[in-house]
Amino acid sequence: MAQDNTIGAKAQLDFVCVETDCGGVVKFNLAEISDPDFQVVCPKCHRAYAFDEALRGKLEKMVTLMTAIRDSQDILGDSAVSVNVAGGEVRVPYALLLTRLNTVITLDFGGKKVDFCFRAEPMAEKAFR
Ligand SMILES: [Zn+2]
Repeated sequence: MAQDNTIGAKAQLDFVCVETDCGGVVKFNLAEISDPDFQVVCPKCHRAYAFDEALRGKLEKMVTLMTAIRDSQDILGDSAVSVNVAGGEVRVPYALLLTRLNTVITLDFGGKKVDFCFRAEPMAEKAFR
């Protein structure tokens, strides 16, 4: 699976600009954050965002996690989460959880909580039955 090493290049992140009344959506590519001089600019108000080392480290850990999930596709495709409900149990396949949910990580960004949304490429449908 050659694409596993390039998940960072494919993972898009976005977050809503922290400037009051801006509402611009700042987008960037996860592969770019390993550059210490990396900056993103809000497309609307042009505020520049520089990511400190701690923040970059957390985002890089997310890449590692997502890569691990991808590497585990084969077994995850056969696994399910059991949820007890009234009258029995519901089994939710991991595959469904992983493909249907967007990953959101909330990080402290200059004293403000910011939700970073990951928009990684969906995993191949054929991996899950
Ligand atoms: Zn803005």
